[in-house]
Amino acid sequence: MNNYICSTCGVQYDATEDNPLECKICMDDRQYVPSTGQKWTTLHNLKQDGYTNEFVEVEPNLIAIKTKPQVGIGQTAYLMKTPEGNVLWDCITYIDEDTVQRIQDMGGLKAIAISHPHYYSAICEWAEIFNCPIYIHESDQEWTTRKSDHYVFWKEKSLRINSSIELINLGGHFKGSSVLLWKSDTNPEGVLLVGDTILMVPDSGWVSFMYSYPNRIPLSPNVIKNIRGMIIKYEFNRLYDAFGKSILEDGKGSVIKSADRYLKYIEIE
Ligand SMILES: [Zn+2]
Ligand SMILES: [Zn+2]
Repeated sequence: MNNYICSTCGVQYDATEDNPLECKICMDDRQYVPSTGQKWTTLHNLKQDGYTNEFVEVEPNLIAIKTKPQVGIGQTAYLMKTPEGNVLWDCITYIDEDTVQRIQDMGGLKAIAISHPHYYSAICEWAEIFNCPIYIHESDQEWTTRKSDHYVFWKEKSLRINSSIELINLGGHFKGSSVLLWKSDTNPEGVLLVGDTILMVPDSGWVSFMYSYPNRIPLSPNVIKNIRGMIIKYEFNRLYDAFGKSILEDGKGSVIKSADRYLKYIEIE
């Protein structure tokens, strides 16, 4: 029996004798199956192939973790050091002894929080190793690909998971798409980790929001208005997305003006 991993999105499935026939995440309109067809791998195979996880401290107490070379979509996970323990925002598929040791040396993980199904990766594997809960918005429960006792499916529009971290369900890309607000005495301006609920674009200081990024499917004006209406209630300065991009000044202003720009163009007749 193997926990097969979809090579395109990097999401791991419940153990089966043979690989699953299809990946439900990639069959969805928001993802794609490559023209070369559905391919599967396992964590064991990835370990044989010499992958490694790179840790970079992007600001005090915030560590970006990324697999080299790229696995699946190639997202970055972020580890936040808080007085109540470390929290991992989003997750990556690859995990090896070196990764476990480095995180244990920093005090392990108290919780994993996930923005949306594209980053479900190997969450159950990570949660078992660090014996911690996985916070996922209930609206996206149907997209989970492994059974686990570690899931905490939250229903609210926002959920505080410790004194400095709050999850906010903005919706859009997925119904459960969420962002993480990290704010404390040592970090009073606030950092927003956005997954790809909000995505940085090449135009510096601007972001966008989409139903599907690879297939270029936009969101409706009402959904953008909802996202704008939710996010305007929160204060934050810096933004980090899932692909190593950031906005380091006036992040809130960037999100609001980008929502307004989106609405301006999508509502043109
Ligand atoms: Zn997939
Ligand atoms: Zn996505």
